[in-house]
Amino acid sequence: MDADVVVVGAGLAGLGCALALQDAGHDVLVVEGADAVGGRIRTDVVDGFRVDRGFQLLNPAYPEVARVVDVDALGMQSFAAGVVALTDDGSRVRLGHPLREPRLLGPTLATGVRRPRELAAVASWLRPLLVPRRRRSLSDVLAGRPPRTLHEALDRAGVDGLLRRVLDRFLAGVLLEDDGSTADDYALLLVWMFATGVPGVPRDGMQALPEQLAARLRRPVVLGTRVEEVLGRRVRSGGTTWSARAVVVATDGAEATGLTGVDAPPTKGVVTTWWAAEDAPETGRLLHVDGRTRPAGPVVNCAVMSDAAPSYAPPGRRLLQASALLGPGRETAEPVVRRHAGELLGTDPTGWEVVARHEVPRALPAQPAPYSARRPVSLGDGLHVCGDHRDTGSIQGALVSGRRTAAAVAATLS
Ligand SMILES: Cc1cc2nc3c(=O)[nH]c(=O)nc-3n(C[C@H](O)[C@H](O)[C@H](O)COP(=O)(O)OP(=O)(O)OC[C@H]3O[C@@H](n4cnc5c(N)ncnc54)[C@H](O)[C@@H]3O)c2cc1C
Repeated sequence: MDADVVVVGAGLAGLGCALALQDAGHDVLVVEGADAVGGRIRTDVVDGFRVDRGFQLLNPAYPEVARVVDVDALGMQSFAAGVVALTDDGSRVRLGHPLREPRLLGPTLATGVRRPRELAAVASWLRPLLVPRRRRSLSDVLAGRPPRTLHEALDRAGVDGLLRRVLDRFLAGVLLEDDGSTADDYALLLVWMFATGVPGVPRDGMQALPEQLAARLRRPVVLGTRVEEVLGRRVRSGGTTWSARAVVVATDGAEATGLTGVDAPPTKGVVTTWWAAEDAPETGRLLHVDGRTRPAGPVVNCAVMSDAAPSYAPPGRRLLQASALLGPGRETAEPVVRRHAGELLGTDPTGWEVVARHEVPRALPAQPAPYSARRPVSLGDGLHVCGDHRDTGSIQGALVSGRRTAAAVAATLS
């Protein structure tokens, strides 16, 4: 026996699962196919710029992050709570969270958003978040509602106009879909997290998050070792086989299907382009979105990353990101993305230099209605599976899945 438990995959789910099992007194070995831990959360340093493999933010309001991550040690650099939207008349309006970014309240109210009907419609959509819950968790409140897609729920609440377009575009960048097919309950949970947390990135890049977890493991992660076969309680990579009392497959959904036969949801993809852009305008740490009736390009959000996170660029330089959804028929060539991002920021993009471009076709599992946040993790005979495809497609979902699976494994071992 090489360990009590072998975990395949050192993304957040695998690391979270391994740590929970270690804390419960088990000997755990993690085997990872890539050259470093982190899975979909990796950071490269390119010409002194720090670039994450796909733009993403850590929200410290995620309950599981608060539980297992030492957020202070990460040295978070935060985005502002709001967006800048390009509108049909060519102006750029700043829409901000009234409590978190009070200085944006004036600009927010100065836009057409002050129309009471539009605000009432948004309040109606957000009602489950606003009503007193009398000790019931938000998940419990949401679980009692009829299943609806995000677009059905927004239509039903009568959300339209500029606010609707901004919501649609902002959420497209978070959910990585723009057809509104995601379960409304899940979208509301995310909105709640945005309302209560201050998302940002660690000083050393997003990869600092999985690295912090990996550093707590007693046995170092075995890197560069792709598992080819899982045979009951044994896993094989090339000529090496490890045996254990239990095995956890903590890969992404498609790989888990290949290794165990478990069903996994379809995935959604995104491409993030990073440029050095010294002449980019000051963005006040805000994301930019296209709030026009007909967006003139594929960008779902862009931002001057180094304004929010100065450690992402060498002194005196500035780093810009723009993200676009991947999928059949979508035009996401670099010049097209560059032109659209320049338009959103109101600047000539000709001089921008590409630092990196990350295409991530399997970025997130789909989260359609009805919302099912707890898929089975025990496959029998000591074999388990975890990952964001078992819970929700997020940092929170991956970590929860790791803990949930660790509890299931611990129960079988005892
Ligand atoms: C571009 C992008 C933007 C995102 N934005 C956000 C965001 O803003 N907020 C948020 O909360 N979430 C975001 N997410 C989602 C979040 O990053 C993921 O949900 C989470 O990281 C998934 O973790 P995981 O452990 O489930 O899977 P993964 O990170 O995919 O980890 C699986 C691991 O298994 C390894 N592996 C696979 N096959 C094998 C094998 N055969 N043998 C050995 N090892 C193997 C892989 O190398 C990998 O390390 C984003 C994701 C992407 C890609």
